[in-house]
Amino acid sequence: MKIRAAVMEQAKHPLVVGDVELDEPRRDEVLVRMLATGICRSDLSFMDGKWPSPLPIVLGHEGAGVIEAVGEGVDESRVGERVVLTFAPPCGRCRFCLEGRANLCLEAAACMDAGTLRDGTTRLHRGDERVHHLALVSSFADHAVVPANAAIPVTGELEPGLACLLGCGVTTGVMSVTRRANVRPGESVAVFGCGGVGLAAVLGAGLISAQPVIAVDPLPDKRAMALGLGATHAVDPAEGDPADQIRAIVPGGVDHAFEAIGIPDVADQAFRSVRDGGTTVLIGQPAMGVKAGFDVYDATQFEHTILGSNLGGANPALHVPGLARLAASGRLELDPLVTHRMPLDRINEACEITASGAGGRVVIEL
Ligand SMILES: [Zn+2]
Ligand SMILES: [Zn+2]
Repeated sequence: MKIRAAVMEQAKHPLVVGDVELDEPRRDEVLVRMLATGICRSDLSFMDGKWPSPLPIVLGHEGAGVIEAVGEGVDESRVGERVVLTFAPPCGRCRFCLEGRANLCLEAAACMDAGTLRDGTTRLHRGDERVHHLALVSSFADHAVVPANAAIPVTGELEPGLACLLGCGVTTGVMSVTRRANVRPGESVAVFGCGGVGLAAVLGAGLISAQPVIAVDPLPDKRAMALGLGATHAVDPAEGDPADQIRAIVPGGVDHAFEAIGIPDVADQAFRSVRDGGTTVLIGQPAMGVKAGFDVYDATQFEHTILGSNLGGANPALHVPGLARLAASGRLELDPLVTHRMPLDRINEACEITASGAGGRVVIEL
């Protein structure tokens, strides 16, 4: 079938919205009519050339839609199902899948590098030219073919423009707090960077009743958003070292600090804002090869834990439906995260808004 998709022909150039051919779903795959897709910073990292990718490629990995057709081996009853797409469909066989860490699935990672689906081929093409899939999702399009277990069923009560955020940003932020760091009620939290993921971390801290919840961001609008979403304090790094400001609020430092931007100096600030024996969680992703520094003596002497977080350590099939129910019930308040909605034809504008750091999530409605 012919679909409309935003194709990255080369890095550092605008995406090109046009017709692409999409083949039928093969064995253990489904065809999804996309309803909404968020723009994530990771998409921009490919567009900027910060991260390599095969070309041409249809970007987008934060999508929600409805299953329109199924391939061989997939139950027909799934047609009509409302789904969120995930970039971590577990193979079920690799060491990480066996450990219950589907977010690190080796087979999914290999497909991501190659820009293909499971069988090493693509369903996307333009005549004889292969068009690659991003992260087994490629949601910057009106339709997508994905592995059946990359399409996670969620309650239809959740509006697609909010549901799509569960494909990456919201799940990453919330579950970095609730699962990766396993923050307990009454523990103190600082979140550095109040973009989509950082604000979701603030929401996660609220869900499990962390106290206090300190948001750090140089932009007044972002600090105001964080306070609106449940942060108890907001810190402006322009007013002095944020680690000192945080230690003035929580003497001795917070139990857990989350770095949600991907800036090495900020990672060090997060590390220095944590109490002895506390935990620093690194979520933000800079270009590959970027190094961060921290005081090794402090880390060893005071048993400071530093955790990397990929999708918050979530196992999407297990955790995304629950987050969707929380969001549909209003207990996980996603509405304020979305500040712009626009059609696919305006995707380059959407990417520019995301890159500027102003506002919240930009959602493309399909
Ligand atoms: Zn696996
Ligand atoms: Zn993402």
